[in-house]
Amino acid sequence: MEERGNISIHTENIFPIIKKFLYSDHEIFLRELVSNAVDATQKIKRLGAIGEYTGDVGELKVVVSVDKEARTITIADSGIGMTAEEIKKYINQIAFSGATEFVERYKDAGDKNQIIGQFGLGFYSAFMVAEKVELVTKSYQDGAAPARWICDGSTEFAIEAAERESRGTTVILHVAQDSDEFLEAARIRTILNKYCKFLPVPVEFEGETINNPNPIWTKQPSELTDEDYKNFYKELYPFSEAPLFWIHLNVDYPFNLTGILYFPKIKNEFEMQRNKIQLYSRQVFITDEVKDVVPEFLMLLHGVIDSPDIPLNVSRSFLQADTNVKKINTYITKKVADKLNDIFKKDRAIFETNWSDISVFVKYGMLSDDKFYEKAKDFVLLQNTEDKFYTIEEYKAQTQAGQTDKNEQLVLLYTTDADKQHAYVEAAKNRGYDVLKFDTVIDSHFIGMLEQKLEKTTLKRVDSETAGKLIEKDELQESVLNDEEKESIKKIYEQAISNQHMQVEVAPLSPDDAPVVITLPEFMRRMKDMSRTGGGGMMFMGDMPDTYNVTINANHSINQRILKAKEDNKERIARQAFDLALLSQNMLSGSALTAFVKRSVELIDKE
Ligand code: ADP
Repeated sequence: MEERGNISIHTENIFPIIKKFLYSDHEIFLRELVSNAVDATQKIKRLGAIGEYTGDVGELKVVVSVDKEARTITIADSGIGMTAEEIKKYINQIAFSGATEFVERYKDAGDKNQIIGQFGLGFYSAFMVAEKVELVTKSYQDGAAPARWICDGSTEFAIEAAERESRGTTVILHVAQDSDEFLEAARIRTILNKYCKFLPVPVEFEGETINNPNPIWTKQPSELTDEDYKNFYKELYPFSEAPLFWIHLNVDYPFNLTGILYFPKIKNEFEMQRNKIQLYSRQVFITDEVKDVVPEFLMLLHGVIDSPDIPLNVSRSFLQADTNVKKINTYITKKVADKLNDIFKKDRAIFETNWSDISVFVKYGMLSDDKFYEKAKDFVLLQNTEDKFYTIEEYKAQTQAGQTDKNEQLVLLYTTDADKQHAYVEAAKNRGYDVLKFDTVIDSHFIGMLEQKLEKTTLKRVDSETAGKLIEKDELQESVLNDEEKESIKKIYEQAISNQHMQVEVAPLSPDDAPVVITLPEFMRRMKDMSRTGGGGMMFMGDMPDTYNVTINANHSINQRILKAKEDNKERIARQAFDLALLSQNMLSGSALTAFVKRSVELIDKE
């Protein structure tokens, strides 16, 4: 008996709209149909388990196939199947209303990409690639008659009696002319690998099972070895280096979430890859854009999150406001902090060895999340130029005695490049100071945060002052030059340098310090750094030239000699001493460098 009818919906031409909307993401039809097949299979398993179904459950799997000649894609399952009545209810009404709602809701949406992948369009997504869809099914219920449903994408459908021995459903897509790409086996395989890799029921394609139905995140941590975690990482990212360590997530209250997050090895900050966390819902891949689910600073982690409680069929702004999503965020942050603390406590050596990889997460986390800061402040490490590691507390204790200035401020010194700032690092060390290494992009922000959070503590880059002035103490250096001599040496240098961005001053440094020291005040440099990284609303600073301080060491013998030198030689020696200072600050180049070399040669020649 054949029955014909009309699907009752408000929107007449639903399919052209669906097609247009999902244009860039047609491939999800396969995810939807295979998920349906998996659901049907799991339902029969459950019915069998609770005794509602007494027949033989048999081998449960989903088989996908492509026939290029016949222009069909087939998805076959041995699930619960449907009666003709159920087809009318579930396919004609329910599935259709879902599709209608989709169109209604998103007709006017601006960014369709936001919708795609978040909204499971369900069964009707088949029409994105098919001009006709056929469904042959037999319900598990005793004496159920097999039925066939055919629809060509209009609102008309036909249901008729069919031949079918076994329980289950077969969906046959008659592929439309404009969707030929989906008749390529390679394409189908790629799509299956993307969305179906961890579906809980075996999915077969071309005689092979393409999925791992029991991925390790569904297991208990106690069942798993380190090898298991590492192998799974390899399965996810075949070309990546082994991860540093991982966190197994497992909550069932107040929301459901399982997953594994890996700390990857990071070579440098420019190579850091976001979007490496895959989001699943009951083992169905949804997206690798986890922006709203995972805290921003943890997006650098890799791995898998699976939660049926993340609403997938709503828009992004809704997702951000969702309370479950917020709780998930908080939970993940806490778990990551706990794990790091754990490693720090149990195995500090390992923690230190991997610090260069971990530090980005930790610092980024501390900067972006106060709760994380509170936990991380006890294990964040400071590394000095001797490559020794200290916690903040340890370092404060270590430097308190020698680096507290006359105003009771603890002054912490740092270098952003121990090589380039070598002369300054050495000068600081000669005074008995310790120097920290802050040489990553995030460190300039981290320094600012430390100053805000730590009481009575200032951070200064080693080249922001002459060594003697970095940490101001009460002791006064005696000056060999008197005030008059200071004034004349200042004039000589100003003449020799003749640059308005070089602020010359004369001060009594130690006789062992360099004759001339060039520094860029901490405040100036930070403003510049900030404007360069776009922070602090200081965009205009980028164009401002640096104003350096040039300190002439009144206690250095060269400067005493300049005063006594022949008139026409004074400026030459001063310029030479100044160039040497430039050189040690990596600031000598171009014609100034050429002139310096020439002058140096002449000087050696004279000796
Ligand atoms: P959803 O899966 O979100 O409920 P769909 O449009 O994908 O929406 O499917 C509608 C309904 O049709 C399903 O809930 C299910 O009852 C039925 N259905 C779809 N595919 C199958 C199948 N392969 N076997 C049995 N029932 C199915």
